[in-house]
Amino acid sequence: MSESTRHFETLTIHGERMAGTHSSGDPVVYPKEGSTIFRMGEDENVGPIYTRHDNPNRQQLETMLALLEGGEACAAFASGMAASSAILQSLRPGDHLLIPLDLYHGVRTLARDLLKPWNLAVDAVDMTDPVKVKKAIRPETKMVWMETPSNPLLQITDIEAITSICRERGILTVVDNTWPSPILQRPIELGTDLVLHSTSKYIGGHSDLLGGAVIARSAEGLFESIRKNQSVSGAVPSPDDCWLMLRSIRTLPWRMRGHDEHAMQVARYLAGHPAVSGVFYPGLEDHPGYKIARRQMDGFGGMLSFLVKGDRAATKRVFLGSKLIIPATSLGGVESLWEHRIRSEGPKSETPENLIRLSVGLEHPDDLIQDISQALKRV
Ligand code: PLP
Repeated sequence: MSESTRHFETLTIHGERMAGTHSSGDPVVYPKEGSTIFRMGEDENVGPIYTRHDNPNRQQLETMLALLEGGEACAAFASGMAASSAILQSLRPGDHLLIPLDLYHGVRTLARDLLKPWNLAVDAVDMTDPVKVKKAIRPETKMVWMETPSNPLLQITDIEAITSICRERGILTVVDNTWPSPILQRPIELGTDLVLHSTSKYIGGHSDLLGGAVIARSAEGLFESIRKNQSVSGAVPSPDDCWLMLRSIRTLPWRMRGHDEHAMQVARYLAGHPAVSGVFYPGLEDHPGYKIARRQMDGFGGMLSFLVKGDRAATKRVFLGSKLIIPATSLGGVESLWEHRIRSEGPKSETPENLIRLSVGLEHPDDLIQDISQALKRV
């Protein structure tokens, strides 16, 4: 591949097509392959046979995601949680897993509650401090799960520092790269073994697709178990979803640029607002992870959280007081969403009751700031 085709703007448009051979009359946009079964021939190793095992649209999406993350292989799933399950189910009973203190609550519930019969030993550790991670490692530690920036506190983990600690000890590393997307952060380049995505977020980008993916540094070893899980458990995305996901990816670099630019403007505005007592955005110079984020990311992303100067009721008034920003869960779409996060995380949530998480969309930032300004008057 020539140097110029490595640019994300080029790769996201042509990536999965560049490796193949082309003939005149080929469609420029791949067709959706709706057949669940495929004719068998002489050669037993050729082609898809059944769509749960393989499908041309899924292959195209997987090729693209592996290219973007710089991995050897990718397995696409029906959701980010299905992808997370496949990773955790590659562990064995008695294996020890380290997760961050702050991470997407669904992954915490999966590791601690749903997989209880799996008998994993799970410890949560402050991943912003590599010394604490080192101390939490036991002889039976098999995997360290990172999420950076983390959900919902936007904590930053030094991926290189943690992966080098783990590599010396033969421990596998995973980074949930949903929030930055490969456009802003590429964990495999920083040493990790696996990258997880909820493609329902920035990669899908329009709040109308659910999906997940695991991208692996090596197609061998651990990834083989993930691939088997995908094909046997069968939590696979439909060909239509893969087709749409690939279409969304064509504009990913441009969308990420807009999310990143707008979030910075909104974060600066919030940081100076008298009704706000804290802003969590790694692009602000006083964020504790700012220097690491600058080093390991190509932008700070479109997600931020802030604390309303008030109680739970005041926070709820602000949350429901927006006119443009939609009060809804999830993130990564073109439209701005915000969320009174404690409501979504349930009774066990440790998220501050006055925290609002904001997914900054692609609307004009002046309009977003105007909306936030009028909503904050409700404090
Ligand atoms: N990881 C992160 C960081 C998330 O924010 C989410 C969902 O919000 C997930 C994983 C789970 O993904 P999905 O909703 O596609 O199952």
